[in-house]
Amino acid sequence: MSSACSPTRLNASYGPSSALEWGQLNFLHTTDTHGWLEGHLKEKNYGADWGDFVTFSTHFKHQAGNMGVDLLIVDTGDLHDGAGLSDATSPDGEISITIFDDVDYDLLAIGNHELYLADVAYQTLTEISAYWGDKYLTSNVQIANPQTGEWEYIGKTHRYFTTEHGLRIMAFGVLYDFTGNTNVTKVIPAKTMVTQKWFMEAINSCDPVDVFVLIGHNPVRGSSFQTVFNAIRAIHPDTPIQILGGHSHIRDFTVYDDSSVAIESGRYCETLGWMSMSGFTTENSGFDGIFPNPAGVPNPTRKATNTSTSPWVYSRRYLDWNRLTFAYRKWFPFPHWPYHISGRNWSMWETSLLFSSWAISEPPRPKAQDLYHAVTIDIEFTDAETWYDHTFDYDNGRATTSEITEYREQLNLKELYGCVPQNYCLTCVPFDSSSNIFPLLAEALAEVVVNEDRKDVARYIISNTGGIRFDMYKGPFTFDDSFIVSPFQDAFLYIPSVPYAQASTLLDALNNAGASGKRSLGYMPVERDLCVDPIVEPLSEVRRDEGLFNSVRGVTRRQVVDLVPGYTTTDDWGTDGDDTAHSEIPYYDIPDFFQGAAGFDANGEADVVDVVFVDFIESDVLAILGSAYSSADVTYYISANFTTQDYLPLFVKQSAAFQADYPNCPSN
Ligand SMILES: [Zn+2]
Ligand SMILES: [Zn+2]
Repeated sequence: MSSACSPTRLNASYGPSSALEWGQLNFLHTTDTHGWLEGHLKEKNYGADWGDFVTFSTHFKHQAGNMGVDLLIVDTGDLHDGAGLSDATSPDGEISITIFDDVDYDLLAIGNHELYLADVAYQTLTEISAYWGDKYLTSNVQIANPQTGEWEYIGKTHRYFTTEHGLRIMAFGVLYDFTGNTNVTKVIPAKTMVTQKWFMEAINSCDPVDVFVLIGHNPVRGSSFQTVFNAIRAIHPDTPIQILGGHSHIRDFTVYDDSSVAIESGRYCETLGWMSMSGFTTENSGFDGIFPNPAGVPNPTRKATNTSTSPWVYSRRYLDWNRLTFAYRKWFPFPHWPYHISGRNWSMWETSLLFSSWAISEPPRPKAQDLYHAVTIDIEFTDAETWYDHTFDYDNGRATTSEITEYREQLNLKELYGCVPQNYCLTCVPFDSSSNIFPLLAEALAEVVVNEDRKDVARYIISNTGGIRFDMYKGPFTFDDSFIVSPFQDAFLYIPSVPYAQASTLLDALNNAGASGKRSLGYMPVERDLCVDPIVEPLSEVRRDEGLFNSVRGVTRRQVVDLVPGYTTTDDWGTDGDDTAHSEIPYYDIPDFFQGAAGFDANGEADVVDVVFVDFIESDVLAILGSAYSSADVTYYISANFTTQDYLPLFVKQSAAFQADYPNCPSN
């Protein structure tokens, strides 16, 4: 078994460049985790696992308590469909949601991926909602009661509560206007929801509200959040509204008005979102913590807009999901940090980076001699056992990590199918490039999606690019990777012996159907991940040589750092939201559909063609083929049980290129 299959987490080669700004009210935010609780096993930027986050969030709760401020931990849904840990069980999530529950969340919202299948929706009701109780907010999502058939909310419509430090919060959880849900569930459009009696009562309540917290599986830009925001603003013109969203899988931050900002925190355990605010006084709130700000750490200083006259200042940051980021946060703000630096073999540039960050942060700062002291300790302890074990990990986080390891074992997720010979990405190179994943998948479709009885008939096999969820990295291809790359179970249907002239135009016609055509596609998620998929290998050597690294009190020397490709976010506040600097990953558009082709003559032609396609586009295919065809002509090409989750593992097992190094896969 290759070493990349071991549970040991990868760690980033370099980390954040400055301390977080703690305010009076702070948020840690996850969204669209899609079962990635084991972390990214092949990308060191995102190598932390859920246990590391359990530890980290526990530290942060303690730290907030010590500083006299509030910290809310929020998740905004999509726990399924994306990794083996969530998808290798039946129903999905049977195991992964119990691991997810190890984090002490304050507020959670439901995602569309909790609502595609009836058994998953009921599991959300009986396990997720039942476990989280008042904290699980589904303001506009209902489910049919299995006993009575009556519609009831899966979670709570809203939560009114007082934080540890006296802030009175009214929270809602609003899913975007999703329509692809199983019919045992109902999604109420936001514009209807805001007219409902319970909502009107909640926003007109006599109970004082210091902050509205509007969470939801809903993009923070151009979404139905605006509808809910407007409805709250109509009654509460100045009250802060903090918004936390998701679903479009991007990092984003938007300003709604002087008293309202919104964050969206990526996907797949790549990003941990941070948002903080200050400005609470005894006059404008029930806050009884620290005024005006916690000491010993940087604080938020930025108004929502340049012209804001409101008292609120904010910060936002997108943290990379790795142990270097997490551990850095843990000890950095503590005054006794030289102690924590011992036992850790910090490279000189890391040390300088750290000191630089400290030096540019707000006072109080360590004195110069403390810095020298720390360096001395650092040098003395360069033998370094793993430093985390002593200063970072908590028992609860360790327990979660061993749970993950155990379950991965149980589910055979590490079972090795072959070795990926090179990196293949979805959008970082042109669609027809040999490093793009789709030419490879087209080959896989052509080679293994075969009905033995019709193998001599030419065939097109049409699938959707939106069903492919992740890049494929050089190295081991395991059972787990089959879910990571192609998690959905769409069966292959076909129409036999379509004249070549017609069949050969289908792919283009589907791709030209455009946005409206896409919307008509039914059951399975065809949502496009709007984010850019970071890859491991630097595409270009980007050198950074900034003043930040150059000279801090004699303990540093000039440093040149290679940036790893990753998120380079631009949001309403500009480009300084990414916690760790990355070089940009190129992005190329891809069409909605791609196809494999087999059995054609040397000119790529045939008299007739079997048209094979994923089940949920049947009506689109029929519409394009015209009145000569109807659903009576459509049957399973192989069987109802052979789906888009099955063809890639099969291909990997029989492809010479993927078997060449088996079982000793070289990795990056
Ligand atoms: Zn998602
Ligand atoms: Zn979603």
